Amino acid sequence: MQTSVRSLDLAAARDPAFQADVERESGQTLASCYQCGNCTAGCVYTPDYDFPVHQVMRLVQLGLREQALSCRSIWLCATCQACTTRCPNNIDVAKVMDVLRHMARRAGHAPEANVKTFADSFLSSVAKHGRVFEAGLAAVFAIKSGKPMQDAGLGLPMLTRGKLAFLPHEPEGNGKAEVAAIFARFGRFAADKSRAEAGDSAKPSDTTEDSK
Ligand code: SF4
Ligand code: SF4
Repeated sequence: MQTSVRSLDLAAARDPAFQADVERESGQTLASCYQCGNCTAGCVYTPDYDFPVHQVMRLVQLGLREQALSCRSIWLCATCQACTTRCPNNIDVAKVMDVLRHMARRAGHAPEANVKTFADSFLSSVAKHGRVFEAGLAAVFAIKSGKPMQDAGLGLPMLTRGKLAFLPHEPEGNGKAEVAAIFARFGRFAADKSRAEAGDSAKPSDTTEDSK
């Protein structure tokens, strides 16, 4: 990945709107990043990243949309916020990484397929039950990731010792419906964003009803 960026025609690859898009969605000022590397020095995942986090910030500054959204780093980030606390320019770096992950999802990039599969399975469980059903999540993830027996040796003892519930424990009262409404509202927001990024000026979905 890094080799391919070094050999890039920067002028041709640059999307001048990318930095502004990330700044608008994250509320952060990426232009103030002066590449000190403090964020990378505090990030425990640096050895596993294809681009250390300060270089991800640089990709955004350079307008290299495809390279930033297709990198592995944004999917491996644990949102621990060590980078955010270390930034001398008060950039919420972890939030930028989160925004890049959302943008990557909308653009169809998922270089770490199992991370996306886990995130999708987790969100689907919360949307369905109002809170995560851990045993169900483990089973769905095992099947979707193509390794159905991977955690069986761990899951069965946890179930029998009561560390995992056999059945979902859904919120009482209106909680489940309220969570479902949040997911519905976000689904319309994401669809509008995807259309806008694809250059479709169709009327945006009405997200006001559920937000009352
Ligand atoms: S939030 Fe992500 S990028 Fe920042 S230090 Fe933690 S793992 Fe690294
Ligand atoms: S710590 Fe802040 S200023 Fe330094 S490289 Fe990271 S984002 Fe940029």
